[in-house]
Amino acid sequence: MSLKGKAALVTGSTSGIGLAIARAFAGQGANVCINGFGDAAAIEKERSGIEAEFGVKAIYSGADMSKGPETEAMVSDAIKQLGAVDILVNNAGIQFVSPVEDFPPEKWDQILAINLSSAFHATRAAVPGMKAKKWGRIINTASAHALVASPFKSAYVAAKHGIAGFTKAIALETATFGITSNAICPGYVWTPLVEKQIPDTMAARKMTREQVINDVLLLAQPTKQFVTVEEVAALAVYLAGDMARSITGSIISIDGGWTAA
Ligand code: NAD
Repeated sequence: MSLKGKAALVTGSTSGIGLAIARAFAGQGANVCINGFGDAAAIEKERSGIEAEFGVKAIYSGADMSKGPETEAMVSDAIKQLGAVDILVNNAGIQFVSPVEDFPPEKWDQILAINLSSAFHATRAAVPGMKAKKWGRIINTASAHALVASPFKSAYVAAKHGIAGFTKAIALETATFGITSNAICPGYVWTPLVEKQIPDTMAARKMTREQVINDVLLLAQPTKQFVTVEEVAALAVYLAGDMARSITGSIISIDGGWTAA
């Protein structure tokens, strides 16, 4: 198991892509800290299930990634409980769809806080330990929207372009410490985040559910298929491994050809 002995913290991992990444790391032998919101009993079932299925230690933090001090405390707590945070995946993210003139300012602030600033706070807290061990992996879940835009997603697109720049800056700062910093840019992945934005997109564009799926979401994706969470998780596992030590500062697309167009 290639990640045996490593400790990984994945933000926003009670669902979707983050959960798949945490499970894939555990499948490679890493101890994991999961984070995110949801039903307490369902989260506990997931956490204990990871321990039972993969024979690793799994802890949970309910820290709110829109709050810097909570984010920092989550990292310190994971270091205390797991001995280190060798692999940090900044994955928590939310979406909000609206024309800019109607975009609620508090939604803008929330998206920037969760999708961008939380990566700063968590990275800031995790890098000293990584530098001391001369090994670390920072993987940011960005998006095709880190590279190209879509209408009505101004805050999300701004935050994701921001995370691409942050990824590169951290790669340069940490390059001589055995640490890599990369961003994964998925196209449309079938998760609750995508499912939840369908009603708003239907309203914003005056479309049916089928039209949103086929003419908006998959319109941009030449393969005409959603990316799967397992595919994204497999890429994260690769980036976390020793064979990926020379990949740093990279903004890596996994988008069915979306950004090739
Ligand atoms: P999801 O809604 O399934 O999961 C989001 C996770 O973040 C959940 O665990 C949720 O509880 C957590 N979360 C939300 N707000 C939080 C907060 N304030 N503090 C802590 N945790 C919080 O979504 P997903 O599709 O798996 O998205 C994960 C990441 O992937 C996001 O950054 C998203 O922008 C990105 N992404 C998703 C897609 C896609 O098509 N699904 C495409 C590209 C990028």
